[in-house]
Amino acid sequence: MARLDVPIALPDTPALYFDPLRRCAVLMTVLRLSGRLVKAYRTMTTFQDLGLVPPLLRALEAAGYTEPTPIQAQAIPPALLGRDVQGIAQTGTGKTAAFALPILQRLLADRRRAPPRGCRVLVLSPTRELASQIAESFMTYSKGTGIRTAVMFGGMPKGRQARAVANGIDVLVACPGRLMDHMGDNAVRLDSTEVLVLDEADHMLDLGFIIPIRRIVSTLPRDRQTMFFSATMPGEISQLASVMLRNPVHVAVTPMATTAERVEQRVILVETSRKRQVLSTLLQDDAMGRTLVFTRTKHGADRVTEHLERAGQAAAAIHGNKSQGQRERALAAFKDGRVRVLVATDIAARGIDVDGVTHVVNFDLPNVPEAYVHRIGRTARAGHAGVAISFCDSSERAHLRGIEKLIRARLPTEQAAA
Ligand code: AMP
Repeated sequence: MARLDVPIALPDTPALYFDPLRRCAVLMTVLRLSGRLVKAYRTMTTFQDLGLVPPLLRALEAAGYTEPTPIQAQAIPPALLGRDVQGIAQTGTGKTAAFALPILQRLLADRRRAPPRGCRVLVLSPTRELASQIAESFMTYSKGTGIRTAVMFGGMPKGRQARAVANGIDVLVACPGRLMDHMGDNAVRLDSTEVLVLDEADHMLDLGFIIPIRRIVSTLPRDRQTMFFSATMPGEISQLASVMLRNPVHVAVTPMATTAERVEQRVILVETSRKRQVLSTLLQDDAMGRTLVFTRTKHGADRVTEHLERAGQAAAAIHGNKSQGQRERALAAFKDGRVRVLVATDIAARGIDVDGVTHVVNFDLPNVPEAYVHRIGRTARAGHAGVAISFCDSSERAHLRGIEKLIRARLPTEQAAA
């Protein structure tokens, strides 16, 4: 960046450049300084810099967003140019807006209608929770523009979902299984879809969705814009990306290890039979405000919740055996503070977007090390501090070593108090 002591007139229209070193877009302005032409570069720090149109800027202002997050600053400019994007980012980084905003801008610039049963934009999400959050984000950012968004996921009646797309829809957010059902019923067609987003690709792999995704993608036009997001890029995922994307711009934020660094982490060595009691003791500390507890199984989540309730704690559980309504009620109670402790399994918790989680407790250690990083990433969001406490019994020591290897750090351990 050129340093200018005296503000000089004559700024040409700033031009957009992609800086490969910083992996972000920069603005370049040519200035006349003492008769010489000087190029001044600056990174883009406002949504306006990124090139978003006024209706979206107003929606962002109403949502209280003052500046783009790093993934937004990196992904929005190339996406606005129609480029494919391959992003490494997890929930909590602002990645939803990173793809939703350029998509909405594209839809606003060209208001053509999708054909009956068609959608102009398809967003694939691994879980219902994430799908509803993505749809909500699209609706928030497009408020008042007339752009319409629909969702499709299991556990809800199919008829209403099919009717929502019968006349064509702008944005369809769907889980792969239910979308395949609707495609089988001839209720959805994707042959004129212009933009495809695949979110949380690594989680799609965990859930066995890779084959359905390949099938779905094979029915989309080849000539489309594709954005592909994943928290990690194991071999199978980068292979999927390579077949779906064309000359993508690569963007990445907070690699797994650095996310973990922001969270204060400790491990309590405790036998499983005593874990519930140790949890109750921890919760006597008022510093444990909004606490998310992870268990490995649905049954375990229910048992922990019942134990906490019996001990007089306001707790709720979410997992795959709960109905959509039950999950939504539990989340709403946790968000508005009626429930202090939310007990969840990994799958149910993925994509949950609750600010101000002060503590994450790993009641059981996950057997997949990446899940640990996802779990603790639920706290310490948006620059806040966060604490992660993990219970580890003798059978979980191997999981602990796997986690330490992934985050490249030794976690401090202590024995549970007698
Ligand atoms: P995501 O990673 O998309 O799940 O977003 C995480 C949270 O950050 C959501 O609650 C968003 O509403 C919020 N968010 C996204 N972008 C911004 C921004 N630029 N400024 C403030 N909050 C944001």
